[in-house]
Amino acid sequence: MTLRRKHKKEMKKTCNKCGNTYPRTEEYFYAKKHGSLINSVEYYNECIECSNKRSRKWKDENKERRREADIKYKETKTGYFKELYSSIERSTHGNNFKSYEEFLDCWEKQKEIYGLNCPYYPSIQMTRIKGTGKATDTNISKDRILSSMPYGPKNIMFISWKANNEKGNVTPYLATRYLEFVNKSEYCRKITEFELTKLNNLHRRRFGDDIEIIAAIIEDAKHDVKLQHEYIEKMIELFKDERKDN
Ligand SMILES: [Zn+2]
Repeated sequence: MTLRRKHKKEMKKTCNKCGNTYPRTEEYFYAKKHGSLINSVEYYNECIECSNKRSRKWKDENKERRREADIKYKETKTGYFKELYSSIERSTHGNNFKSYEEFLDCWEKQKEIYGLNCPYYPSIQMTRIKGTGKATDTNISKDRILSSMPYGPKNIMFISWKANNEKGNVTPYLATRYLEFVNKSEYCRKITEFELTKLNNLHRRRFGDDIEIIAAIIEDAKHDVKLQHEYIEKMIELFKDERKDN
């Protein structure tokens, strides 16, 4: 009698989660090796459907938690600037920075002058907002002053996304500020003068005065073989002019 009832009871099993009763088989319940009986299995107390639901829920929550943690990190100073630097390292425009530290140092130096304000639009306090799924106008972005030259300590500014976007659609205001920044940097000014073939002619100096600068400019253009070639031709032209003058 007792054996019979026990056998009967074991034919069915009730899920302790949803309360449904199912045949006590692996079709409805996950099984694991029995803890104390050899060659025997025991079933989980919840049905397969409830087990799956629970693990899916756990996975989703975990994914969401990981995403939130990721965003939080990217909004920290280190997380934000490491991400900017890693895109510079992967950039086809070239990278003259020796290290992340040197890159970050440029930001610190800019901060001493402009604080968190955008150099183009001083009314914008620059931010590090992540995870919105779209570009944030006030966010800090990296910008090469001269788009012909690689990223490097002498050719970088941190400007708001708004200013960065508008540079492609330039206004007289933005252009004026841009030239201010170019002229403020000796490196950018010299390259511009060289590109305009003014470098030697401007001050009526001898060619030799600028030869080291020109060599450095050509060296810096190594990321772009075509540009480097143009610079070399320009240098040869300058050299010819110099010989003509003498
Ligand atoms: Zn269930």
